[in-house]
Order: sequence, then C-alpha cells, then structure tokens
Amino acid sequence: MSKIALLNTRLANQIAAGEVVERPASVVKELLENALDAGASRVEIEVETGGTRLIRVRDNGAGMDAEDLPLSLARHATSKIRSLEDLEQVASLGFRGEALASISSVSRLGITSNADAEGASGLRAECEGNGMEVSVKPAPHPQGTSVEVRDLFFNTPARRKFLRTEKTEFSHLEEVVKRQALSRYDVAFHLRHNGRAVHQLAACDSDTARERRVAAVCGPAFINESLYIETDIGELKLWGWVGLPTFSRSQADLQHFFVNGRVIRDRLVSHAVRQAYRDVLYHGRHPAFVLYLELDPALVDVNVHPTKHEVRFRDGRKVHDFIFRSLHRALADVRPADQLPPTGELAQLSAQPALEQEPTQDSLAWGRPAAAPAGGFGSSVAAGAVREQVAGLRELYSRPAMEEVAEEAVPPLGYALAQLHGIYILSQNTEGLVLVDMHAAHERITYERMKSAHAGEGVRSQPLLVPQTVAVSQREADCAEAAAGLFAELGLGVQRAGEESLVLREVPVSLRDADVEQLLRDVLSDLLEYGTSDRIESHIDELLSTMACHGSVRANRRLTVPEMNALLRDMEATERSGQCNHGRPTWTQLSLEELDKLFLRGR
Ligand code: ADP
Ligand code: MG
Repeated sequence: MSKIALLNTRLANQIAAGEVVERPASVVKELLENALDAGASRVEIEVETGGTRLIRVRDNGAGMDAEDLPLSLARHATSKIRSLEDLEQVASLGFRGEALASISSVSRLGITSNADAEGASGLRAECEGNGMEVSVKPAPHPQGTSVEVRDLFFNTPARRKFLRTEKTEFSHLEEVVKRQALSRYDVAFHLRHNGRAVHQLAACDSDTARERRVAAVCGPAFINESLYIETDIGELKLWGWVGLPTFSRSQADLQHFFVNGRVIRDRLVSHAVRQAYRDVLYHGRHPAFVLYLELDPALVDVNVHPTKHEVRFRDGRKVHDFIFRSLHRALADVRPADQLPPTGELAQLSAQPALEQEPTQDSLAWGRPAAAPAGGFGSSVAAGAVREQVAGLRELYSRPAMEEVAEEAVPPLGYALAQLHGIYILSQNTEGLVLVDMHAAHERITYERMKSAHAGEGVRSQPLLVPQTVAVSQREADCAEAAAGLFAELGLGVQRAGEESLVLREVPVSLRDADVEQLLRDVLSDLLEYGTSDRIESHIDELLSTMACHGSVRANRRLTVPEMNALLRDMEATERSGQCNHGRPTWTQLSLEELDKLFLRGR
C-alpha cells in the first residue's frame, strides 16, 4: 500500500481554511468582499455571540443563478479571473476562489441567492459530506445574496479553542466592518449584534457625508483634529485624513491604509508615515490616519498573502517617497490660522453627541491646566480642524468669506495681554483666549531656524583620525557600494574594504561624538528594507533639537509685551509651530463660548 493518499475534499478545504479563516472576523471580511465584488450598494451584517454562533451577510448585488450557485462552494472556483493576465491586474477584492469552500468546511454554511431582478424566486445551497456535495433547492430571496455561517469551527475543536471571548471576537469583527466601510463610501453598511443595531451607515453622496462616516467610524474628534489631504504625482494619488500630531494615540489602532480600495497593512507604508511624523510626534505615540493610495493595478502585486493584507509595490521606493513627502509637507504647513475652531457643518459634526460606538479617544490633553473643564480644554483642542492650503493639496472645507474679511485685522494668535507665572503667554484673538507655552513655542522656533541654517550650509564632514573598519554582510557591503552617492550627500565617507567589510573615513562634523558605526549599520538596514533612510538627518535633528532646547527661553523669564507679540508672530510663520520639538502642543485656544460655559453664562 502506498504511503501517500489524496486528502478528501473537506480535509483539503479545512487545511486551506487554516490560512484564511482564523476567527469570525475573517469570515466577515471574506463575505463582505464577495458582496462588494458582486456590486452590492447595501450590505447587512447580522451576528450572534460574537459571530461564533451566526454570521449572516446579506447583499443586493448581482446574485448567482442555478449554475453558479453550487460552483461558488467549490475550491478554486471563481468568476473573477480566468487567466494569469487577469491575475496581474486584478481589480476585484477576491480572486482565489477559496473563501466559500474554506468557510463551508469549518462551519454550517448556507447560501441563498437570486440573480434575477424580475423573477420572484431564489435558490438555496448547502454543503454536506466529506466530498462537500452541494444540495440546491428553491428558496425565496430578492435579487442579491445571503450567506449564513453557523457554528464556526463546530467540527474543528482545536481551532475553536483559539477563539476568545464574545466581546473580543465581536470587536475584531466590528473592526473589519469599519475598515470595509471606510473603503467604500458609496455602499450602505448595517451591522447588528445579538439583535441590537451597532452601526447604520448610509451610502455617502457628498464630502460632508463622507466625513460623517469617518466620524462615525473613527470618532468625531479624529475628523476635527485632522488634515484632509489630496495630492498626486503622475500615476500615484494619495488622499484622506491625517491626524494632527497632537491627536496622537497610545496604540497604532487608528491607522487605516487602503491601496486601490483594498485594506492593507504594510511595513513600507507604516515606515513612510512614521518618518513623516518623526519631528512632530511625542515620543512613543502613534499617529492616526485614514489614507487612500491609488495607482495602476499593474504596479502593485496583491497576490502575495492569502488574506491579501499585504501587497508588493513594483516601485516600493517611489511609493515610500511619495507618501513620506506628501504627509511631511502637509504636517509642516500646519499653522495657527488653520487650527481655529471649525464653523458651519463641521462645527455641527463636532458638536454632535458622541456616537454609541465611538472608540475611546485618548488624544493627548497636555499642558499644566491638567483638569479639562467640561467642554473646555479638551474640546478646544478638538476644535482644531485644520484647513489644508498647500499647493497641490486641495482645500476641502472653506470658511465663509465674510467672516474672513471681518477677522483679517487680528492675527491668528492674537495680541499678548500678559504672562502667567512666567510660563504662559495669555493672548486675545477673535475667538477668545489663546494660551501659549512660551518655552515650548520658542524651542520649536529655534529648532526650525537651526534646521534651515544647517540645511543651507550643507553637511560639513571631517575625516576620522583613524579610519574605522566595519564588518558587515556581503549584502550590506553591496548596498553601501551602490549607495555611495547617498552617503556622500549625508557627509559619510564610506568605502568598501573587502567582501564583507567597509571602511569609514569621514563623518559629519555634528556627529563626531555619535556612535557612527551603529548609525551606519542602521542606515544600511533601512536601505535594504525600505530603499531609503532618514537616520542621519534624524540624528542630526535630534542634536539640533537638544541645542534648541537649551538655547530657548526658559520658564520664569519675564517677557515684555512686544517680546511676547514677536514670539506669537514667529509662531504664525514657523513650520510645525503647533508642537514643540518633543511633540507637545505649544498653544491652545479657549473660545469665548467655552469661557461662557465655565461661568454658566448663556448668550
Ligand atoms: P473569490 O471571491 O476568490 O472568487 P469565493 O470563494 O469567495 O472566491 O467566491 C466564489 C465565487 O462565488 C465568486 O467568484 C463569485 O462568483 C461567487 N460569489 C460569492 N459570494 C457572492 C455574492 N455575495 N454575490 C454574488 N456572487 C458571489
Ligand atoms: Mg471571495
């Protein structure tokens, strides 16, 4: 008897399910993708017990007829691609033809579908036995498809043990629904858990409706404390919302990135974003963003991961550079004038009561006025919706022109009134009271000036007294050789000294006391992984930042009113002046309205 035997179909599918179906959330992801691929404009998701007992996804898409319905449950059966060429520029979310077969092998699955808009009836298919035979019988259904997945992992107890509590499973599942909802504004999404409506997101037909959806999914504070950006170069387009540095998170949990409408988690992308926030984010905090990258499908390979969470870009370096530059520019250009409270529709949005499902917001409420008065400090920060005005980045929201004319006379940060305890500047602007942490603000101004001076001079290098030999791998040595030009620009004189060794002859003057060998190794590993590195700049910036900190006005120094006003004007003109070098905010606004609330004064 031969030792090798063909697996029965169910077992083969169960093995495939190991890659795709990890938990209820993965089932929902696959079913939602199918509904969207079928052209649905409305998707209803009903879940019981965190999705382990029941997941039902109902759509109004194209549906399936008597011929296709049983085939949909077969492994390697798909309507989405026919050839390798199709695969190379696939536009649908699914294409592996595995999801339904895998899910049906580890659950009790039934599909009811109707492909005929006029015809009254529909069909229901169920899957049985180890050969996974499909039975089909008539069942009423309007045009579209309902897929019901009951008792996930009922026949695979080992996998069932990996499931967590109902609450945890549901929160993963909800996250999947939210992400899909952010990927398709034109589709309505409804989510119910244990009979209770959790999300009811109508299809969006305007920019405001889209913002409303982002607010419902990411919390209203996010949309009010983010920049809208939209930029393109050649075939690359990037748009979406990036959180202001002061709206940072303790976890990387509000980061949504989409490539051609597909939800993606990608190291290259996260690195580019992190690098863009480097100079403005408080240490250890994570930025928040909802971003959409669009490019020719032929320039990105989506077939590199079973759940298609990862992609591979044909020109990763270009994509990295594009994302970094777009965000870096947008963040640098945030000015006090942009951070004044929103008016009109957006103001209403922020004034809406927190939605039931709003994630807990932990945007930082820094500063010494620690206790936020009701609707006070916290919401004044929340009011900092920023208006993007960079060339090439379209302005989405505009403030009424009349108001602009009326306010023109008073500069955004107003005129200084007094100094408080030698720490804060109090200033009056059109909105009300502005509080400035004078040390933090001055530090940023000094730092930005030092950076421009440094950039203007170019990097000055000095030769090492004794050239330093650095042992590296062959791959690293090749990389260093290829990047000789880049190293020269950064002021590092590096030469190859052998198969696996480099010799360091020159270093930037400002880095003469740093651990240059370690820096070189880090740069090489960045270059190998992302095709680019900002370590040297980052290190130089750190040194400049420290110098700026020591060179800035200390707390407890008396400033005259003209000195204070000069500082306010400098802030208005300085890049990134909303945060000090360490990412803390430099100023905040208390509007008259908020002050009125403190005194229960109605107007
Ligand atoms: P894939 O999505 O990779 O093609 P699936 O196993 O998820 O593989 O689905 C198999 C096929 O079943 C799809 O290609 C599609 O033709 C059909 N199908 C699945 N779900 C739906 C749906 N909700 N509406 C219409 N057709 C569907
Ligand atoms: Mg699919």
